[in-house]
Amino acid sequence: MALADEAMGDAADALHASVTALRGVGQALAAKLGKLGVERVEDLLFLLPLRYEDRTELVRFGALVPGTRCLASGEVLLAETVFRGRRSLLVRLGDGSGQLTLRFFYFSRSQADQFRAGVRVSCFGEVRRGPGGLEMIHPEYRLLRPGEDPVRADALTPWYPATEGVQQGRLRNLTDQALRVLEREAPEELLPAAVLDDLGLPPLVEAIRYLHRPPPEADIEELRLGTHPCRQRLAFEELLAHYLSLKSLRAAARTEHAVPLTAGGPELKAFIAGLPFRLTGAQQRVVGEIVGDLEEPQPMMRLIQGDVGSGKTVVAAIAAVKAIANGVQAAVMAPTELLAEQHLASFSGWLAPLGIEPVWLSGSQRSGARRAALDAISSGSGRLVVGTHALFQEAVEFHRLGLVVIDEQHRFGVDQRLALRNKGKRTDGIPHQLVMTATPIPRTLAMAAYADLDTSIIDELPPGRKPVTTIALPDSRRADVVERVREACRNGQQAYWVCPLIEESELLDHEAAEASYERLRDALPELNVGLVHGRMKPAQKERGMQAFKDGTIQLLVATTVIEVGVDVPNASLMIVENAERMGLSQLHQLRGRVGRGATESHCVLLYRSPLGRLAKARLGVLRDTNDGFVVAERDLELRGPGDLMGTRQTGLPEYRIADLVRDATLMPRVQIAAEKLLRNDQDRARAIVRRWLTRAGHYTRV
Ligand code: ADP
Ligand code: MG
Repeated sequence: MALADEAMGDAADALHASVTALRGVGQALAAKLGKLGVERVEDLLFLLPLRYEDRTELVRFGALVPGTRCLASGEVLLAETVFRGRRSLLVRLGDGSGQLTLRFFYFSRSQADQFRAGVRVSCFGEVRRGPGGLEMIHPEYRLLRPGEDPVRADALTPWYPATEGVQQGRLRNLTDQALRVLEREAPEELLPAAVLDDLGLPPLVEAIRYLHRPPPEADIEELRLGTHPCRQRLAFEELLAHYLSLKSLRAAARTEHAVPLTAGGPELKAFIAGLPFRLTGAQQRVVGEIVGDLEEPQPMMRLIQGDVGSGKTVVAAIAAVKAIANGVQAAVMAPTELLAEQHLASFSGWLAPLGIEPVWLSGSQRSGARRAALDAISSGSGRLVVGTHALFQEAVEFHRLGLVVIDEQHRFGVDQRLALRNKGKRTDGIPHQLVMTATPIPRTLAMAAYADLDTSIIDELPPGRKPVTTIALPDSRRADVVERVREACRNGQQAYWVCPLIEESELLDHEAAEASYERLRDALPELNVGLVHGRMKPAQKERGMQAFKDGTIQLLVATTVIEVGVDVPNASLMIVENAERMGLSQLHQLRGRVGRGATESHCVLLYRSPLGRLAKARLGVLRDTNDGFVVAERDLELRGPGDLMGTRQTGLPEYRIADLVRDATLMPRVQIAAEKLLRNDQDRARAIVRRWLTRAGHYTRV
């Protein structure tokens, strides 16, 4: 019983009415609000402020603290226009306890003239240390009439997520209206009282009221960090909704049918015996788990987690052999062309003795080749298909898809994963599904992200791997590093030189790589240096990679396109430029490109000084451990609250309020609460999912 099969709530009540029901909201504003995910009145209640300002208290000048934003007021002592470096208007205020200077860079003549000595002014802004004592730059201000007191707010002032054309004042007014609706018609409390008691969290209505209009004594810092119990209350319910929905997807999958792949035992044995290496114990165990799943009449939904280089690909190949031996098709999807091409090469090699030739499908294919691939896929003559996202496009029709393998799952969302599975939906069932990730994520996160999957872990590297020695060096040592590359290549080894990510711009990315490439070519004239970056044509990239694999290129300069999955065992040196800009898991992935062969491998993380505290800690983690799971745990600890970048990398859904990093500690309780609800109160579970997930085409719709 998929919770999401339920129709959306049909209540025609004020909370569920469109925002256009509010005063001052027309179609144009509604469209802008839509960009913030706000469609109904209730959505406004769940649109939480990003931060707050305290305008409830008037701070005496003598008590102002630099770095804080304060409301203050005083009398003009002196106003002057000065030209030190830049024309500015300085207004010196006094209140008997001290002085404060207001500094303006943009001002009109008449504005300057208002500040006559003796006039009283109230102002709000950030206090900073200036050349002549404390100051506020471009504060909000108001001239006070004689006898008039500065206006103090009776609650903390919220700052909402901004969107173009919607001012904070407007958002405050709209949430005021929504809060009035809340007083008349409270949204249902969906968390069982026992859960709230247990966690010591407040009821929903109280939490919403508090978060939108916190009382003057509220702890601004706790609110900003998202650790306040009221915020946790909402985060908990949102995490619970996602978890319930994934769990119900999984329950639904259990009631679905799949073709049980019971044959193929001998083929599998022969295939494994023919491999150029012996499977590790961990690989054997995971293969056993997969084979067990495939023989069931319900679809397998399994995740393999394994560190870089742990040998996930061959495990996928074994699953494919099993499927093909049972007369169904297998599809293998990878997130980048480069990686998909590499899989194509591995699979072709391993499966050639069985007479199986993989079909290739990618977005950049010529139309003739594409036509032929599509025909092979729909006729069933293509028994194994390898490709990129192109696999779940509309034109692709499988004859009888029995197994879907998705590599580097963290690059795809849950929805994409389900889309490919649905391609194989037929009267005799849906395909088995195997997803693989080399980004080990901490247990609590895995719980949230993969609640719809069974998990297997390959926790052992193939024998003979030597741990990679990692060092961090400042940019100033670049010349030494270049010498190191020369030395390694003279000894017949190969090296990667990875260039920085510049503000997520692919264009700049590739320019930086090109510049490094030129410089390294000049510095190392005796070496063959290659270049691979994201903006190259796939064929060009492929040529570069191939040349590196063949050994005709000794030094490969690349952008982070090589982050995932590239396998060249003879490469034993990895240089990463501007490592301070990269995330921990990304660096770990990059490092995983070396240490694959018999030689001692090294990873050099070049950084630009001075190194921030966090960057220093990050590089330290890599120096200290080679274990992807430890890296992931430390990553979680180091990441501050609100850093969504990190979680986005893992293919996790985006949350409205919860932050998986910050709220990870809630997950065990979420799990317990979810299981109880699913056992005892399905209606309530459904209502929770409906409240948080029914819009935006989320995976619950499936
Ligand atoms: P990942 O888990 O990162 O995807 P791969 O599947 O690319 O790792 O495997 C890395 C390398 O290890 C490949 O060259 C692969 O052929 C090799 N390999 C896999 N399993 C074994 C094994 N049991 N013994 C030796 N080498 C192995
Ligand atoms: Mg891989």
